[in-house]
Amino acid sequence: MQVNTIMAQKSTRRKARKDDSESEIDPVYHALSRINGSINRMTLTQLQQQLNKIGLNERGVKEVLKKRLKAYYKKQKLAQKPESFDGKQYYPYLIVLDFEATCEKDPPTDYLHEIIEFPAILIDTADNKIVDEFHSYCKPSLNPKLSNFCTDLTGITQQQVDSALEFPHVFNSFETWLKKHELLLARRCAFVTDGPWDFSRFLNIQCCLSEIKYPKWAKKWINLKKIYGNFYKLKKPKLLDMLANIGLNFEGRHHCGRDDAKNLARIVIRLMQDGAVFQFNERLNAGKLENITEDERALLNGFAEKPSNSLQHMTDNFEDLSVTSDNPGETSTDAR
Ligand code: AMP
Ligand code: MG
Repeated sequence: MQVNTIMAQKSTRRKARKDDSESEIDPVYHALSRINGSINRMTLTQLQQQLNKIGLNERGVKEVLKKRLKAYYKKQKLAQKPESFDGKQYYPYLIVLDFEATCEKDPPTDYLHEIIEFPAILIDTADNKIVDEFHSYCKPSLNPKLSNFCTDLTGITQQQVDSALEFPHVFNSFETWLKKHELLLARRCAFVTDGPWDFSRFLNIQCCLSEIKYPKWAKKWINLKKIYGNFYKLKKPKLLDMLANIGLNFEGRHHCGRDDAKNLARIVIRLMQDGAVFQFNERLNAGKLENITEDERALLNGFAEKPSNSLQHMTDNFEDLSVTSDNPGETSTDAR
């Protein structure tokens, strides 16, 4: 059954309800609420048929298809409201980053990971396309010999890290790459990672070991798992599940940093096509992993009219991404 048919069947019942014009709620939201209700009652086949009819991708589990269809009608309806936020992203660029690090099979809790692969994928959010990539292996100093476990997991060979530069050189090249794309300007980009560990643990430990000031551009980021889980209403998604739920297979080798980052970028692109909006949701504050609250998000996105003094201080800190933090050696004990 199509959405229009379901809507027609419901019109009699609807008349008995309070008239839209009498309601305080915007009629567009009333209409959306009814459409969403209809979509919630559709079967998987009906969802696929409707998506096919309007020319949208029909792959994915039921929750994903529902969300895709709802996002489509939301965009259509909100387009009628000129002041609405019609699916545009807050940041012109997203950078998907996925470090690989030295590891052991059963590491002690205080094991010091060193970054051995540094991949980043640049997505232009206006076109929803990958536009560039940064990639480098890094030579570890503390544990220069990779464990067999690490090589088996990541596919990274001893020779690859032996012939690579040490982290500080790679870090400098990465910052040069960021500057080349003018990504350090305020509100120009946001980093996307699969969980909090890439920044809160791997980069944090590596900056301590390399005696590099923890970079300001990595003090807040977007945890993709949270965006995905909240948007599609699916719990604790792992990378392979995130792909499978939207009807995609992993391309390349899982735990190869470059392939992980590329596959994460495919998920980001799919989410944006389905209407998800990417906003910062995690940060490091004095070495502690924290969630970013709604109030802070509003300020970061420039929607608050007059920030309070304490919040003003916070936005001041977030404004200029090009300056590195004054707190070298951020430390963290969060779990993934
Ligand atoms: P991933 O992005 O999932 O490939 O993982 C990033 C890094 O986390 C790897 O390079 C390892 O250092 C570590 N890691 C991931 N999975 C494991 C595991 N099962 N056991 C130990 N370390 C792991
Ligand atoms: Mg990885």
